[in-house]
Amino acid sequence: MASHSEVLQRLRTAFRSGVTVPEEFRRAQLKQLLRMVEENEESFLKALHQDLAKPKFEATVSELVIVMNEVHYALANLRSWLEPEYVSKNLATKVDTCYVRREPLGVVLIIGPWNYPIHLLLLPLVGAIAAGNCVVIKPSEVTAAVEAVIAELVPKYLSQDCFTVVRGGAEETTALLKHKFDHIFYTGSQSVGRLILQAAAPHLTPVTLELGGKCPCFLFGSLDTTNAARRLAWSKFFNVGQSCVAPDYVLCTKQMRDALVPALKVVLREFYGDDPQKSPDLPRIVSPKHWSRLMGLLGRSKGTVVLGGESDEADKYIAPTVLVDVAEDDALMQEEIFGPILPILTVETLEEGINFINQRDKPLALYVFSDESSVPNAVLEETSSGAFVSNDGIIYMTLPSLPFGGVGASGFGNYHGRWGFETFSHRRAVMLRGWALERLNGLRYPPYNDTNLSWLRWTASPKLCSIL
Ligand code: NAD
Repeated sequence: MASHSEVLQRLRTAFRSGVTVPEEFRRAQLKQLLRMVEENEESFLKALHQDLAKPKFEATVSELVIVMNEVHYALANLRSWLEPEYVSKNLATKVDTCYVRREPLGVVLIIGPWNYPIHLLLLPLVGAIAAGNCVVIKPSEVTAAVEAVIAELVPKYLSQDCFTVVRGGAEETTALLKHKFDHIFYTGSQSVGRLILQAAAPHLTPVTLELGGKCPCFLFGSLDTTNAARRLAWSKFFNVGQSCVAPDYVLCTKQMRDALVPALKVVLREFYGDDPQKSPDLPRIVSPKHWSRLMGLLGRSKGTVVLGGESDEADKYIAPTVLVDVAEDDALMQEEIFGPILPILTVETLEEGINFINQRDKPLALYVFSDESSVPNAVLEETSSGAFVSNDGIIYMTLPSLPFGGVGASGFGNYHGRWGFETFSHRRAVMLRGWALERLNGLRYPPYNDTNLSWLRWTASPKLCSIL
């Protein structure tokens, strides 16, 4: 097996040859990626079921269709993304050609997590290919069946000179990170995100961090609790809560909580029947280790379980669980839950809710449910988060025209659609000058004097440019 150095040398040689630059090459590779997903749908679905017991419905929409849509979107827009972006000029540069040119970065590394092991690996890959890079793809080792399918298929469909899959966990990734990349795109936990930044520092490698955190769902004012419960429960229990954008906890008034819990009870029975363990529509916790972490959190919580609470270690099963009377310092409020456990905390006023959110790290997504438009408007104005959605949850991430990414502790940089293309592109400033207007240009040369300085200020003025 080739060493990391040999593999990277192969990719770097390919990149330097310029093979990835022509639009046609990028299109051909994007189409191959699409074919890879379309022709192997069954293998992917089987692997996702093996790793996470993902139902076909969830796997199809959140892992496969989302990647296919991203490729279609990139193919439809690539030409316009590659167009030079001409910029405004001043008098001193009036006859020059000034524009922004998008160039590939080089050899980039994409490290994926296990919760959406196809989507979170291949969606950034679409941006990286569209931008003309060579890519090292590092799937999560935790979802071993998907990792094996990716490792088998990528070399069959994509150029082996330009794209490669490296398998393994922390040890292999640490070794890989000793090498120089031109960009590292990491999705995963905050603790590993810090290690990625440290590994990037010696090489001054730019990094995108797609991290997690606690996404609040704030319900306030008048509200149809049945609809709210449906959208909340679907967003929370999709992939059995193992979504970086899942509502982590609910904030609402006591009155709202007392209406919401019975509504959630009805909805959960509608979704998963009387015994959710028997439902084919509820995935499983990814590993015994992750199951134990969640059960530990639940065990340490001083909240009251009002729905669910059942579990089965052998089956890596935890029922959709809702708790009330959860205090701010509860175990469930100390870290991202990342599982099917939903604590409900109460506040009395809109301002109290907004303060609660603002006292914590900026979340990846913030959800506000209300019939009164003044409520989401106020929360939008007075808070910050990677994304903001009113009256729904995780659905926003299916829209490729919206940037996807965090802010503050939930990460930095973004992707999806054009934003992924931009993340993996260098915006090179280009000024093409001739030899005209040398007298005007001569104003800048020594010996300096105040008259020339006044003229220079005038010719460089953006105001003058808009008059002309
Ligand atoms: P993780 O950080 O454990 O692993 C992610 C990747 O990092 C894997 O490929 C893994 O092999 C690698 N890795 C693990 N330890 C490493 C180390 N010491 N050095 C180098 N690489 C290492 O994350 P996870 O458990 O797979 O994912 C869960 C977390 O990811 C949650 O916090 C979740 O919120 C976050 N997440 C964020 C997004 C997003 O888009 N912002 C999406 C999904 C998950």
